[in-house]
Amino acid sequence: MKVLVINAGSSSLKYQLLDTNSQEVLAKGLCERIGIDGKFTYKAPGKPTVDAADVAMPTHAEAIQAVLAALVDPLGGVISSMSEIDAVGHRVVHGGETFARSVRIDDRVMAALEENVPLAPLHNPANITGIKACTAVMGPGVPQVAVFDTAFHQTMPPVAYVYPLPYEYYQQDKVRRYGFHGTSHRYVTHRAADMLGKPIEALKLISCHLGNGSSIAAVSGGKSVDTSMGFTPLAGLPMGTRSGDLDAGVLEYLMSRHGMDIKEMVSVLNKKSGVLGVSGVSSDFRDLCAARDSGNDRVALALDMFNYGVKKYIGAYAAAMGGVDAIIFTAGVGENDADQRMAIASGLEFMGVKMDPDANAIRGKEAIISAIDSKVKVLLIPTNEELMIALDTAELA
Ligand code: AMP
Repeated sequence: MKVLVINAGSSSLKYQLLDTNSQEVLAKGLCERIGIDGKFTYKAPGKPTVDAADVAMPTHAEAIQAVLAALVDPLGGVISSMSEIDAVGHRVVHGGETFARSVRIDDRVMAALEENVPLAPLHNPANITGIKACTAVMGPGVPQVAVFDTAFHQTMPPVAYVYPLPYEYYQQDKVRRYGFHGTSHRYVTHRAADMLGKPIEALKLISCHLGNGSSIAAVSGGKSVDTSMGFTPLAGLPMGTRSGDLDAGVLEYLMSRHGMDIKEMVSVLNKKSGVLGVSGVSSDFRDLCAARDSGNDRVALALDMFNYGVKKYIGAYAAAMGGVDAIIFTAGVGENDADQRMAIASGLEFMGVKMDPDANAIRGKEAIISAIDSKVKVLLIPTNEELMIALDTAELA
């Protein structure tokens, strides 16, 4: 089956055309600056690449039209007509408590997506726009499926998702831990079970998605039982630019001292904090590693804080699950940075984690990076959210 995977942002749209039988990516690219001055990129193996500026893209509909035109182009295209696209899969950020799994999109689902907009006011409207643009351009006959970042974590028990606030805020305002990166955590934990040759139902796994945004999930028997992100993706670990967890009392103190309103404060927490805030250098771990190696102490502190945060979650989630069979590293930092993986795992020998430094000297490839006699296995698994979305879409279309 050929599935077009769409990840629509407010002014951007990432796309991939996948063949779900061969699991091959046929073509992929990015529409950026939608509604501004339109930038379009397209890549397909063995075909000419497109990298065009000033493409007329006043709305997401023209962006989808540009994607389809590139896919069927006689020179660079990979399909002969739009009718070869069997279905479209959309990444949707927030499914609230309504969606515990992926779902085929119909009018009822669209209404429920609209209802969840207040939970993700920046992201969900863009996802809805992407779905409407596909319907407008491709017609209502092409099945579309929504795959939610939050859905995998809907199995968490109340003890993990209820916040210690007046309970009415949960009942009336839906304030609770939802968690994100669910598609990634689901993909890598299923791959882990395959790599270990065990049924996922028999495994206790800790999935560390460490990228620009980072989250950790405790996955017991294939079900998410806890995760570090919360009501929004601001919670949990210190990230590239997000603070992660913080004493809420700090907010009032800083707002009154610096005359900030809540919007400015939240912007600091989202955009100027995390490893960028502490280091004062960069949110990019490659820059940070280089600066640390040239002796910058604040950069070293930012990286140490990040590793310490991950280590604490691993300990906490092992306790929450009553043990752990394997720890998974994924996403930009987790897949590529051997030093960070080593630093995080060091000191966990007491709980049966023993790394193999040679096996760990690897990037971006599935591998077992713990020693043969390590009681807890450590796995490197490149994430593939697009493939997961495409497989869900093929199943439901
Ligand atoms: P993601 O959000 O998953 O795309 O991850 C982005 C993060 O991964 C950025 O902070 C990058 O610096 C980091 N990253 C990518 N490649 C490497 C690498 N080779 N070594 C260290 N960090 C990397």
